[in-house]
Amino acid sequence: MNYYSTNGNAKKVSFQEAVFKGLPEDNGLYMPETIPTLPSSFFSNLDQLSLSEIGFKVMQIFVGNEIPDKKLHQIIDETLRLEIPLKKVQDDVFTLELFHGPTFAFKDVGARFLARCLSYFSRQSNKKLTVLVATSGDTGSAVAQGFYGVPNIDVVILYPSGKISRFQEQQMTTLGKNITALEVDGVFDDCQRLVKSAFLDDELNEELNLTSANSINIARMLPQSIYYFYGFAQLPAEKRKNLVLSVPSGNYGNLTAGLIAQKMGLPIKHFLACSNSNDTVPKYLKTGEYEAKPSISTISNAMDVGDPSNFARMLDLYSGSHQKMKENISGDSYSDEETRSAIKKVYESTGYILDPHGAVGWLGLKKYLKSTSATGLFLETAHPYKFKDTVEPEIGKKLTPVLEFKDQEKRSVPLENNFQVFKQFLMDA
Ligand SMILES: *Cc1c(COP(=O)(O)O)cnc(C)c1O
Repeated sequence: MNYYSTNGNAKKVSFQEAVFKGLPEDNGLYMPETIPTLPSSFFSNLDQLSLSEIGFKVMQIFVGNEIPDKKLHQIIDETLRLEIPLKKVQDDVFTLELFHGPTFAFKDVGARFLARCLSYFSRQSNKKLTVLVATSGDTGSAVAQGFYGVPNIDVVILYPSGKISRFQEQQMTTLGKNITALEVDGVFDDCQRLVKSAFLDDELNEELNLTSANSINIARMLPQSIYYFYGFAQLPAEKRKNLVLSVPSGNYGNLTAGLIAQKMGLPIKHFLACSNSNDTVPKYLKTGEYEAKPSISTISNAMDVGDPSNFARMLDLYSGSHQKMKENISGDSYSDEETRSAIKKVYESTGYILDPHGAVGWLGLKKYLKSTSATGLFLETAHPYKFKDTVEPEIGKKLTPVLEFKDQEKRSVPLENNFQVFKQFLMDA
């Protein structure tokens, strides 16, 4: 499979090259040249297939023969060694729990797949790689856990000092080995700027093979399509006909992966793009105007993105047509207050405990189901325990811990918010 840039001014590349480069040189995003429909035999057998079998069938299309089947099977098996259960929350309201991986958020799937692909390709080509990643919390911990101990790859994570949770910080600063965490004196946007400048710096790129582990990388985004098929397969047969999918979104990688699954033939009738107060995409869906904004802090902080990068891919899937996009996707944004009361209400009426991100997805779904009869499925993207300070007061009880604070030394490197200092650090490392 070849990959083109959404900006159309870069040459087409192989899967391997797209994974290595992360970003095309024209600053667009890579997209697969074709998105083939899977055969009807695949769909009629779907509920006989394991998660890993579904994963292989889906990813084989995008990887082609660039990774031998046997190796790809192994990569997929390791990536998907976690549970992704479907739960019924209310009548016609189901949730797919994507938070049973090592960092308790859905990003584990993409991060693990990317780490293993990079490791395979770097061994084949005997290249040592440096992975750079800017994080507001969840990406960094998933990438750190996904790449830990992977040979030939060094990972440098930049996170804003004092702006992430204790769990997140612990998950990226205590590993050591090939994982370095830089604690930047600034906010997330500063971290992202430092990383972007590094990719554009000729001298650095001559010295190091730099690549990105953010969701702009095709190997992080595409494997997320797998669980849409798996979620569908777990629905009762009579509930599969009229399916609406609600995706709590920030950078819109997860939603884009769902749109790709739909293009591959998965019968999803409609998508709901649900955001917190960072409403750039819902606004676009309503008005046709895209206006990037600085991000606003909310209680669903993994979705605090004002200028989502995967929007370029969404637009590309509809050849730039606002009209076509809004026929398939509707969007709405929800305040922290609405999110908190959703957590309370769902717990009191059903016993199900939402996290603040899943709560945004639930809100969008309930609103839609008021006027349209359908089966609703929302994605639960994080374990509620990760956000216990928000969740516990709403449900009025303590959550059972799933994460423990280990008595391990934090090993972060303080970094001034200055590109020359960052560059020197990378050159010396
Ligand atoms: C990253 C993240 C999101 C947003 O996902 P996108 O693919 O960036 O839209 C939602 N919820 C949680 C818990 C996350 O970590």
